[in-house]
Amino acid sequence: MKVSVLLPAAGSGERLGRGPKAWLEVGGRTLLDWALAAFAWADERLVALPAGYSLDHPGVRFLPGGRTRQESVYTLLLEARGEVVLVHDVARPFLAPAVAQRVLQAARRHGAAAPVVLVPDTLIQDVDGFYGPPAPREAYRLVQTPQGFWRELLLEAHRKARQEGLEATDDAQLVLALGHPVALVEGDRRAFKITYPEDLLLAEGLARVWQEP
Ligand code: C5P
Repeated sequence: MKVSVLLPAAGSGERLGRGPKAWLEVGGRTLLDWALAAFAWADERLVALPAGYSLDHPGVRFLPGGRTRQESVYTLLLEARGEVVLVHDVARPFLAPAVAQRVLQAARRHGAAAPVVLVPDTLIQDVDGFYGPPAPREAYRLVQTPQGFWRELLLEAHRKARQEGLEATDDAQLVLALGHPVALVEGDRRAFKITYPEDLLLAEGLARVWQEP
C-alpha cells in the first residue's frame, strides 16, 4: 500500500508568537525540515503552507493551506494518491520511527489509527479559577500525530464534516463522527507539540540528544 504523508503547516503560529511554525528553527533546522526528514521513506509528501508562501524541496509538493487546520488537510487530501495517508503536525519535530510504524500498521489493518499518551498529571475542571471536579485521568489520553487512515475513509469523513459544518482539531474525530472506530496505538511523549514559548526550550534541549533514525 502506498503511503502519502500530509503535513498541515499553514498555521500562523499565533500562540507561539514567532510566525508560521514551519520556518521555526530547532536544533539548527526548521520544523518543516524535521518533518520532511522523518518521512523521507514515504511514497509521497504534501505540505500545506500559509497563503503567499512557497518553497522548493525535491520530491515534495507544496500547496496553499486553508483557513483552518481541517481545511488545510482537506486540500492536501484531495491531491494525495496513496492508499494510506498519514497526517502529521509540523509542530511535532521529534517523531520516533517506531511511532510512525505503529500508526501505519494499525491504520492499514483498521482503517484509522492515532497515537496517544497517558495523562501524567491530576486532571480537573477549572471552575472560574477554583479547583473543580477531578476527572479520572486513567480514562483519558492525550492525542498526538501522525494519525493514519485509508485515504478513501478520511476523504469521506472530511466531506461529511464539510456538509455538516463539523469542525475538529484533528482528523480522527471526523472519522469517528462517520461511525468508524479509530484504533489507539502507543505514542511518545517526546512527540509533544511545540505550542507555547517555553516549549522551545524543551525542544532545543531534546534536539541536542535526539538520534536520527
Ligand atoms: O493550531 P494548531 O497547533 O492546532 O495547528 C496544528 C497544525 O495545523 C500546525 O502544524 C499548523 O501549521 C496547521 N494549520 C494549518 N492550517 C491552518 C491552521 C493550522 O495547516 N489554517
